[in-house]
Amino acid sequence: SERNCIISMETAQALVSDEYRLETTRRIEQIRRQFPILNRIVNDKSLVYLDNGASTQMPQSVIQTVSDYHTYHHSNVHRGVHTLSQEATQLFEDSREKVRAFINAPSDREVIFTSGTTDSMNLVYQCWGRTFMKEGDTILVSNMEHHANIVPWYMLAQEKGVTLKVIPITEEGTLDIDVFKNLLTPDVKAVAVNHVSNALGTINPIKWICDVCREKGIVTIIDGAQAVGHFPVDVQALGCDFYAFSSHKLHGPTGIGVLYGREELLSKMPPYRGGGDMILSVSFDKVTYNDLPHKFEAGTPAISQVIGLGAAIDYINGLDRAFLEEYEHQLLQYATMKLSQVPGLRIIGTASEKVSLVSFVIKGVHPHDIGSILDEDGVAVRTGHHCAQPVMERYNVPATTRASMAFYNTFDEIDALYDALLKVTTLFDVN
Ligand code: PMP
Repeated sequence: SERNCIISMETAQALVSDEYRLETTRRIEQIRRQFPILNRIVNDKSLVYLDNGASTQMPQSVIQTVSDYHTYHHSNVHRGVHTLSQEATQLFEDSREKVRAFINAPSDREVIFTSGTTDSMNLVYQCWGRTFMKEGDTILVSNMEHHANIVPWYMLAQEKGVTLKVIPITEEGTLDIDVFKNLLTPDVKAVAVNHVSNALGTINPIKWICDVCREKGIVTIIDGAQAVGHFPVDVQALGCDFYAFSSHKLHGPTGIGVLYGREELLSKMPPYRGGGDMILSVSFDKVTYNDLPHKFEAGTPAISQVIGLGAAIDYINGLDRAFLEEYEHQLLQYATMKLSQVPGLRIIGTASEKVSLVSFVIKGVHPHDIGSILDEDGVAVRTGHHCAQPVMERYNVPATTRASMAFYNTFDEIDALYDALLKVTTLFDVN
């Protein structure tokens, strides 16, 4: 869309006019008040939290909901007849319904709670991959995947003799669509790609990929970890087979995530882990498994975290998402424009469709030094390979510094990042 285009410096400056900045700052200040941690002082400076790609912060309503659960309702779910257990079960299953609606899944039978995106991918590997893929089959992954969407498929390849092939990426950081089309030979049984790259910020054309794959009977496994926090996701509109994400990148608690899977596939897959809750009956001779989605949820689940995720979804649903999407895009344009003025700085990932994330290197300065110096000014960014080593290899850099924004970040914070980066370049004498 036009909104996601990287634009020229003049246009960016014009777009982020004083009026726009003033008006949005007022609206964003109201939102920021809901996030107590944003008031932290770090190293005697106001915290500038630009590590949302790793974990987003939780609003007070999520913190309160989790606390209320522990204070008033805590009990184990599903099996109890007493009041607390029924309340806990109701809150837990209400959250599942909230997730279902949030991603527009057709049924809550298709919403499985996992411990996060990594766990969701491992579930697909263990239960779908090991059952339905065999020697001679191929799975395609892209060059911009997080390790969570590479290593399980590597393990599958090692174990089953499945071939792992890589969709290359262009210099800008988009999937090389021509090569991708050529890779779609009859042996390809699955395509595993992210909706948004955590290392580059690129938004991939998932609907198009799913359309192409569906025509060929190829199963699509989508890593949505970096997408759900930035824009609405509709799994039916995308037409994907599996979609994974984590609550902690969606302003919810850690330790909980989701795997959406189409019922047709889930119902044919064996269970993930054995134990309580995933069974209907057990004897030493015969075990019958529970219905979807419980078949994939053995043992006591992360109850408070699931309820917290539900509260995070309630919170997000209460926001003006269209406004915030546009606002985040302006933050991206502004950050791109400002950072381009830092001496020796090179942005890695310049796709026209990006979320509000800027990955960069500075000539002659190691990213870890950048991260430490920024931290002295209270500016939190992530440095390293971002669990995407093939991306680092592709751009021939050992690591990058990544500033990843959320809707509560401000233009002033981008200025603080810029000022701190100028300190780095002065200190290291970059010009
Ligand atoms: N995929 C992507 C694109 C990610 O950014 C992340 C988190 N950095 C993951 C997968 C893994 O998520 P989690 O650690 O919550 O399992």
